[in-house]
Amino acid sequence: MNINSMSNISDTIKEYRESLPKDVCLIAVSKTKPNEDILEAYHAGQRIFGENKIQEMTDKHEALPKDIEWHMIGHVQTNKVKYMAPYVSLIHAVHKMKLLKEIEKRAKEENRVIECLLQIKIAEEDSKYGMEADEALKILNSDAYQQMENVKIVGLMGMATLTEDKQKITSEFAYLKEKMDEFSKDFPQLTTLSMGMSGDYQLAIDNGSNMVRIGSSIFGKRNYN
Ligand SMILES: *Cc1c(COP(=O)(O)O)cnc(C)c1O
Repeated sequence: MNINSMSNISDTIKEYRESLPKDVCLIAVSKTKPNEDILEAYHAGQRIFGENKIQEMTDKHEALPKDIEWHMIGHVQTNKVKYMAPYVSLIHAVHKMKLLKEIEKRAKEENRVIECLLQIKIAEEDSKYGMEADEALKILNSDAYQQMENVKIVGLMGMATLTEDKQKITSEFAYLKEKMDEFSKDFPQLTTLSMGMSGDYQLAIDNGSNMVRIGSSIFGKRNYN
């Protein structure tokens, strides 16, 4: 697929929606982007958006159509879970048990079940959050998790090393897919494998991803100033 980086948001959304395999879910990553951009994607049919800051996501949730599903794709600080607990639809990057316990507590207060993914560290960079696969398995098997009624772990998430080395990216994605297949034998509720961004989503899909998080190729480069 050749997504033209010069085309507008609406056309790009349509191109993705037409060309991605049917079982691959597209998350439009709208972090730092204004509500008008999100609405343009919305009017092209997109309903799932990803953000990495809870405050920003909450402001957007309040301002925008209520049938949008908001995914928290970024690192979550435990003390901020309460702000998104009323509405968040999937938390991608659960990196420790303590966070899961807080999500359980806040979801219970809201009378909701919040779906989560465990973030597995697959890249070699130290800066990337995530747990080792063994740790994820420990959480899934723990009494503490098994007793949770308001949190449901539905899959795994990972971010590959930022590199041009396709073989390296491929082996990192393949490793996560292997873990997914291994874990889901005992935990069949694990069905979502969130991996792939603008630069590497095709490799991710080739290696078993069924949820891609695409930002800059839809909305253009982000400006953090
Ligand atoms: C920003 C971000 C993305 C999207 O990245 P692009 O390269 O702009 O597609 C995907 N996943 C996570 C976790 C992100 O923080």
